[in-house]
Amino acid sequence: MTRVIYLDNNATTRVDPRVVQAMLPYFSEEYGNAASRQHAFGRKALEAVEEARSQIASLIGADSRELIFTSGATESNNLAIAGIAFARKGSGDHIITAAGEHPSVLDPCRDLEKNGFRVTVLPIDRRGRVNAQQAAAAMTDRTILVSIMVANNEVGTLQPVAEISRLCKERGVLFHTDAVQALGKLLVDVRAIGADLASFSAHKIYGPKGIGALYVRSARPRVALEPLVHGGGHERGLRSGTLAVPLIVGFGEACRLCQACVADEASRIVSLRNRLWQQIKERLPDTALNGHPTERLPGTLNASFPYIDADALMLQMPEVAVSTGSACTSASIEPSHVLKAMGLDDDAARSSLRFSLGRFTTEEEIDAASAAVVEGVTRLRAISPAYQLHLAETSP
Ligand SMILES: *Cc1c(COP(=O)(O)O)cnc(C)c1O
Repeated sequence: MTRVIYLDNNATTRVDPRVVQAMLPYFSEEYGNAASRQHAFGRKALEAVEEARSQIASLIGADSRELIFTSGATESNNLAIAGIAFARKGSGDHIITAAGEHPSVLDPCRDLEKNGFRVTVLPIDRRGRVNAQQAAAAMTDRTILVSIMVANNEVGTLQPVAEISRLCKERGVLFHTDAVQALGKLLVDVRAIGADLASFSAHKIYGPKGIGALYVRSARPRVALEPLVHGGGHERGLRSGTLAVPLIVGFGEACRLCQACVADEASRIVSLRNRLWQQIKERLPDTALNGHPTERLPGTLNASFPYIDADALMLQMPEVAVSTGSACTSASIEPSHVLKAMGLDDDAARSSLRFSLGRFTTEEEIDAASAAVVEGVTRLRAISPAYQLHLAETSP
């Protein structure tokens, strides 16, 4: 098989070679435990961890003391939601989120219902957006937390998070945001957003898998959280366990690289994405864009190819790695919960593909990918009775 074109960067990214280089010494010579401050090995490791912490904090406009390392954004989301729920259960029992959120937000919310909490899941519109006024209207004096993502992983739609957080603040409700997909692609500033808590992951920004962070605002007022993992009291008691020093160093370096190039990289990736969409839409009539046309992540293109099953289309073009939904749920045969929440019917949702571009995507790859898509769709439509019928009905 020829080299596969990777257009699934919202699922995970290739680790940047510079990140690999930065990590290597911490697997071999510098193998200390960052909690062993009594000797030089431990102190070296701790120094590296704190350097990485400040690189991550700098990218998101936080203070490094406000970051808790976790195993990834799934854990960060769980810690934010359950941690706030249990810390604030004396003052309320109601949580608000939205239908387009990642399963690692929706599932912990659902789980809290077993513990007596109530959850409101806000709808999203045809373009994948939450309405901030609707979020405000859902808040009651029992509401303790609102969790809305910065950008959606399946369609790329950006949410009005700054507006929602302001409405939360007016009502004394905490605001958490899953900022995984926006980090390194847009400027994510936790203070500008007004987030009390924010989740991040390294492997979506050319860092290693298995490391993430939770931002927990520490100033005026300090956000209190119940830990989920108990033990040695690492990370200010909020997440015990020996720190994954090499992964943390890689996360820091990935953030440093993003900070240096975020604007240039975003504009390069937007133009590649627009080129891809242009080429597909010009040569394939009856193709529809999913998500917001402009308020969207730079590298995300989600499109429906009516009369076609997206899984069948993927089999037609094994040289292009794309996705039919989020990697987390694509093991199931259910169509995307995000597309369904946007109002697409089952057939439309099943005909949709997500292309997600990244740092290593080239123009040649985009041209080859669009050619493969056009060829695959054309071949499948030629043998689709429904499409032939549609042609016969619509031709003059
Ligand atoms: C990938 C992703 C996650 C999960 O992150 P992990 O670090 O893989 O656990 C959470 N939210 C969104 C929006 C994501 O894209």
